[in-house]
Parts: sequence; C-alpha cells; structure tokens
Amino acid sequence: MTLKEYQEKRRFAVTPEPAGEVKETGERRFVVQRHQASRLHYDFRLQMEGVLKSWAVPKGPPEDPGVRRLAVQVEDHPVDYIDFAGEIPGGQYGAGKVEIWDRGSYELEGVRPDHFDFVLHGERLTGRYTLVHTRGDNWILLKRR
Ligand code: MN
Repeated sequence: MTLKEYQEKRRFAVTPEPAGEVKETGERRFVVQRHQASRLHYDFRLQMEGVLKSWAVPKGPPEDPGVRRLAVQVEDHPVDYIDFAGEIPGGQYGAGKVEIWDRGSYELEGVRPDHFDFVLHGERLTGRYTLVHTRGDNWILLKRR
C-alpha cells in the first residue's frame, strides 16, 4: 500500500489535510465525509491494509435495503484522514468544506478483489452492505436486504 497518489495531489503547506502515513493498527473503522467540493459528494472510506480505501459516492451511501449507489474509487487516503473535517482552501485539490457525516466500525464478511461484503456499525449507517466493482473506477455500493 502506498499514499503516493494521495500525497502528490496535495500541497500540505496549504491544505489542512493530514500528510499521513501507512499504518496498520488492526482496527476496522469507517467514515463517511460530506464533501461540498465543486460537486457535492460523500466520501466513503474503509480502514484496511494500513490505509483508508476510498470511494466518492455522488448521491450518498444507501440507508435503505435494496438501494444501489454509484461509488467511484479514488486514491487511498491515510488512516489519520478518518478524523478530518475542515475547509480545503480554494485552488487546492478537492477545495471545499468537509464534514463528518457518519463514522463507526465494520466487520468484514467476505473479500475478493472486486467484491467486499461487510456489516457497518455507524450512527446513520447500520447493517449489511456490499461494494462490487463494475468497470474502471466504478463500483456499486448497496445495502443488502
Ligand atoms: Mn471528496
């Protein structure tokens, strides 16, 4: 795992985002950050393999069973990003306000390269979810019945 892409996109002298490092803590946490960038979206992040595996979900993660949402995979983020909220300055990558929309822990039920099954234990999001790769950077995030 590497944060090279994450770090190359940002200027840490300007943005309040953490530079971070890969660190395996053994925890399984998730966060959803509401990101009012040029387009509003929700960043869904799962802590695994020393980083936060990350997807941008334009319509937000599903709260009801059977609902499927497009989730576009983006660069791995540092584990420290799990607590980040604030304003990314204008002109910087991802400029705009970031708020924590939900957070909690998860259990991994099954993992294959293109398919994760997990159970979320958040304030808003609870229950069984699946992330499945479709093509390119596109995945589907769905709440299972
Ligand atoms: Mn974002």
